[in-house]
Amino acid sequence: MVIALSIRLFPAYAQQKLQRHAGYQVSTLGALNVGVYEGAATIGELKEHGDFGLGTFEGLEGEMVALNGDFFQIETDGVPIRVNKEARTPFASVVSFSREKTLRTSGLMTYAGLQEAIDRQLKTRNLPQAIRIYGVFPFLRVRSVPRQVLPYPPLAKVVKEQQKVFELHNVRGTLVGFRMPQYMSSLNVMGYHFHFIASDFKTGGHLLDGQFLNAVVETQTVRDWQLGLPETASFAAATLP
Ligand SMILES: [Zn+2]
Repeated sequence: MVIALSIRLFPAYAQQKLQRHAGYQVSTLGALNVGVYEGAATIGELKEHGDFGLGTFEGLEGEMVALNGDFFQIETDGVPIRVNKEARTPFASVVSFSREKTLRTSGLMTYAGLQEAIDRQLKTRNLPQAIRIYGVFPFLRVRSVPRQVLPYPPLAKVVKEQQKVFELHNVRGTLVGFRMPQYMSSLNVMGYHFHFIASDFKTGGHLLDGQFLNAVVETQTVRDWQLGLPETASFAAATLP
């Protein structure tokens, strides 16, 4: 169960248009960082807000990727499995993806180089962007994290001690992600955040690094961002940054 708090980033000139551009997130990054991994919303609820996005699952049980309305869970074996709508999430961000701009990069780029190339094309760095990148990637380093047990340790400790890293070469698939403005850094991952899923659904994970060759980048500016705030006991009791 979540309470919706809406941040209007653009005048409500047309509800229809706003709905189409609305992003939605469950809980806050600050809560996830301090170990609030209790499920706050179901995948069924998330699906009402979008068909594209990323996040994690109750207990920090792996990485979430949503693409074309299908929601996948990637545990520490690195293999995506389709999740049913009863699965719960403590933190996720989704949008109904609708491409507004396409950026064709040329040549081989590092992850930092790709981010700079996208940054240069944005009309503003002060609105959230949903970003889809697909094709064959020369190299991707991705990770997943295992399910935690109570009392939940902070996210940084789990990542440092337990993350499982996979190196993928010449892999075809889609990077699903967002670029969030700096001013939203206590709510969501600041800057670029991608989760990968292979076209054959055999691999995926949270992107750590990569190489990009002639990457085709599709972006959507998100002008309305809604927060679904958890009504869970752990969120209520947490000391949040
Ligand atoms: Zn992630």
